[in-house]
Amino acid sequence: MIVGVLVEIVNRNVDRVFEYNVPDDLTSQIKIGIRVVVPFGNKTLDGFVVEIKDNKTTDKELKSVIKIIDSDIVLNDELLALGKYMQKKTISSLVSCYQVMLPKALKAKNNTTINIKYDTYYELNDCDISNIKGKQLEIIELIKKEGTIIRKRLVDISISSLNTLIKNNIIREVKKEHYRVQYADIVKNKKVLTEAQMNVVNTVINNSRDVYLLHGVTGSGKTEVYMEIIDYYLKHGKSAIVLVPEISLTPQMVNRFRERFGNNIAALHSALSDGEKYDEWRRIYRGEASIVIGARSAIFAPLKNIGIIIVDEEHSDSYKQSDPSPRYSAKDIAIKRSEVHNCSVVFGSATPSLEVMARAQKGVFKYLCLTERINGKSLPEIKIVDMNNAIKKGKGHFSSELISAIEDRLNKNEQIILLLNRRGYSSFVSCRNCGHTYKCPSCDITLTYHKTSGMLRCHYCGYAEKMYEKCIECGEDALSTLGVGTQKIEEELNKLFNARVLRMDYDTTTTGKGKHEKMIEAFKNHDFDILLGTQMVSKGLDFPLVTLVGVINADTSLNIPDFRSSENTFSLLCQVSGRSGRSDKEGKVIIQTFNPDHYAISFSSKHDYIGFYKKEMEFRRVLKYPPYFYLCNIRISGRDALYIYDEASKIKKVLEKNNNLILLGPNASSLYKLNNVFRFNIIIKYKIDTGLYEALNSIVDHYKANNKIKIDIDFNPSQML
Ligand code: ADP
Ligand code: ZN
Repeated sequence: MIVGVLVEIVNRNVDRVFEYNVPDDLTSQIKIGIRVVVPFGNKTLDGFVVEIKDNKTTDKELKSVIKIIDSDIVLNDELLALGKYMQKKTISSLVSCYQVMLPKALKAKNNTTINIKYDTYYELNDCDISNIKGKQLEIIELIKKEGTIIRKRLVDISISSLNTLIKNNIIREVKKEHYRVQYADIVKNKKVLTEAQMNVVNTVINNSRDVYLLHGVTGSGKTEVYMEIIDYYLKHGKSAIVLVPEISLTPQMVNRFRERFGNNIAALHSALSDGEKYDEWRRIYRGEASIVIGARSAIFAPLKNIGIIIVDEEHSDSYKQSDPSPRYSAKDIAIKRSEVHNCSVVFGSATPSLEVMARAQKGVFKYLCLTERINGKSLPEIKIVDMNNAIKKGKGHFSSELISAIEDRLNKNEQIILLLNRRGYSSFVSCRNCGHTYKCPSCDITLTYHKTSGMLRCHYCGYAEKMYEKCIECGEDALSTLGVGTQKIEEELNKLFNARVLRMDYDTTTTGKGKHEKMIEAFKNHDFDILLGTQMVSKGLDFPLVTLVGVINADTSLNIPDFRSSENTFSLLCQVSGRSGRSDKEGKVIIQTFNPDHYAISFSSKHDYIGFYKKEMEFRRVLKYPPYFYLCNIRISGRDALYIYDEASKIKKVLEKNNNLILLGPNASSLYKLNNVFRFNIIIKYKIDTGLYEALNSIVDHYKANNKIKIDIDFNPSQML
């Protein structure tokens, strides 16, 4: 037997399928879609079996497969084909597409170290049960309802009835693997949907395959709608995928699913250990969990018979992988898989991305909306405070309006969320005398001052040096830490108020598994009055006692050099505003800004998505941005800046032959120098892609063997959106 093996050579955009002999003792275990270890040059490599054949196609002597990694296939036919599609659409290597589909934990070592334990379950035999009564009937009813039940739950009802049923062959024993992640038993928690919610559910389940945009204001009950739709498909023997932006940041959402669907959920958490991830993945693979919840890569979950794919908060940029390659969009993959499974896709958001909204407006996607909050309350009142004037009257970073609103809530024993918007910004150090700023020697980006350790750090490469007492340029004692961090705001809060402040940011949540979840629990229990945090406090949280949301600095995300900065700012402000007044109490929002007239801020203060959408679309049309044009970025990088620039100019010349393309650059990228590697960009804007893929492929091919230069291609947004 001969096999074609796609070997895992990382870091090069190179795919190689090589033929290997299969030793006789291994032939019975060989299947397409498993991984094997093969000799390669003077080392050994892992690879995917992609072909099986009887005869070799070369005259050369073939080497033999050394070992089989997977006893079961890890990539089924659908995923093998999907990888080829991704390779074509993202211009990356096929092997990188296959690697991204598998959890990191699914590596050879895990297969050998895992001791598998078993639990006992019971299922119903096909026999007459009409005479059965009492506890025995109770057991049977339960098994009937859920299909398979673990022994412990049945013993709790009655051990003697259970034994009688086993003895009489009415139920049978099945052994199942004992998984490390154990979930609480099902607590059926189902709400009666409103008419508006029901209409959305019915539209999706009563029609054949389609792609929907569910545009629903925060608190309009989208999550309940998702669960109802999923319930329908589960009852029809199908499975479901739910994508969320960052699963570790959405424990409340996962808990709601858990309460409703119990063990039928597999949550692909980044906080799980490798072994736990491996277990979850196998439960999915074996059809033991029919609902998968996870971030971007959960779109590759090896489910069979998918009935529905839901992408919550679809506007989130986390659905697009930007580095490393393959630079895919999970939304694209969702649509592609839905074609294979003939199922619908629901993109849900309170602030849809312009790409998705534009397609819904054109009728390419179907538009569904929920315009009212469940509690019948209007959206919270939003007050804009102009910091150009207010800062003089207030204290530190707090305007007097925000100070008095916080005091008022503290007096009423209500809770407050404060957002520090510092996307792309951090505390950097500069000299008030000479203006010198402190930058990373190899990345050319500003260093961040970490007060607790007294260090200046590069957030890209990890470079660190001790904070200076005096400016190294002019020697003056005039260094100041500009920009503002959560620690600084926390200090100010502690001076201004007598309140219990919970700080939640990257530093406080990453130490220790489940810490973030515990913080959310503690805040919900009212162990704290004020929750202060970065972007992560804006996402999907539901705290009934929160009646005030304050945004310390709405502007920082507007200043990022990206055409989406207005869109991102608008949706961030809407999301965080949606955290206020979610129960029966009226909510209020205070937004502090130095740009009170910017449309992203003024439309968000009126909860006017459509107003914002129209204005922003006009801007995109004039400047030829998505969704009017597609964008593709070619990044050309290497250690010799002049050489790279010359080659980039040649690449541009090649592309200029295609009249359909608008070309910008080559320009130094915003991260011009990173780890002593220089980066240039060429940006392509286009409406028609005729000839584009061919040209890009030949450019990538041309530089394949040249290790002085690296070419990375990034379509954003992708072709389907
Ligand atoms: P969204 O996802 O749109 O922000 P949620 O699904 O989180 O909205 O709903 C907001 C709140 O309303 C939640 O606390 C949820 O439990 C509750 N809720 C949703 N639908 C209903 C309903 N039909 N009846 C009662 N409460 C509901
Ligand atoms: Zn650096």
